[in-house]
Amino acid sequence: MAILMDGKAVSAAVREEVAREAAALTEQYRQPCLAVILVGDDPASEVYVRNKHKACEACGIRSLQYHLPADTDMPTLLALVQKLNNDPTVDGILCQLPLPQGLSEKEVILAIDPKKDVDAFHPVNTGRIMSGDYGFLPCTPAGIMELLHRYGVTVKGKNCVVIGRSNIVGKPMAMLLLNESGTVSICHSKTEDLAFHTRNADILVAAVGKPRFVTADMVKDGAAVIDVGINRMPNGKLCGDVDFEAVQQKAAYITPVPGGVGPMTIAMLLKNTITATRNHWEEEK
Ligand code: NAP
Repeated sequence: MAILMDGKAVSAAVREEVAREAAALTEQYRQPCLAVILVGDDPASEVYVRNKHKACEACGIRSLQYHLPADTDMPTLLALVQKLNNDPTVDGILCQLPLPQGLSEKEVILAIDPKKDVDAFHPVNTGRIMSGDYGFLPCTPAGIMELLHRYGVTVKGKNCVVIGRSNIVGKPMAMLLLNESGTVSICHSKTEDLAFHTRNADILVAAVGKPRFVTADMVKDGAAVIDVGINRMPNGKLCGDVDFEAVQQKAAYITPVPGGVGPMTIAMLLKNTITATRNHWEEEK
């Protein structure tokens, strides 16, 4: 039976560290500050933004929220980003995605000052991930690395398989595993014989967005299985990309959904905000 990788417990530990750092920065420099922009009324996005706000408050990070109407135009959105870029008391800027139709996510990402890009979506930061010279770590993959580290799962020399190649999860995940000397394969919807790859994985990361997509016959005995998926089922419950009940009989480590990767993502966002504040302080010295 697999050891459960408890994202709630690990994220609580990370948040405690963040709170200590935020208190020290507030005393020695100024209070760290994260600005979050939400455009429109997508209920899931509203929940994410509310959770980020609560998490900031609980850790002593100042949280600014900008809720713009769904019919906001691009110049208005970009003007707000510019204002926040120029505000020396704002350390991190995040625009909650997806944006309503008609607004360009790419343009907004490009407009955010890379030094304040705590989501690590700007090409400057994604490029730095490629070269292993990290500025900000992308929150979800960084949260997964934190879980692996805290549970003593070593990456070096291991076969790592990532299912999914999105810019926010799959690709940066693969780079972080590679940077720790894993032997990494990235699989996607065009991969032939997916199970052939996954059965060879010592570390398997599923970021597909399909409930219970990874079944026990696709998993190697003793693997560490990381489930990134968040799928809302017809009964309202959340379900991951992994068939948890069956796979936990075979894997050595497994993350639950909810309570695995999800809580780590916000914790790493808070960590990135602290990094941004420290960098500001260094620059001002
Ligand atoms: P995405 O952009 O939709 O990417 C999904 C990936 O899965 C794509 O690369 C796609 O391949 C691949 N895929 C789809 N069907 C497949 C199949 N039959 N076989 C192999 N690969 C297949 O999704 P995402 O943004 O990466 O998110 C993935 C999941 O993670 C979603 O459930 C999302 O809600 C969740 N998520 C969770 C967190 C968290 O904090 N826990 C954060 C972000 C995302 P192609 O590229 O070929 O289409």
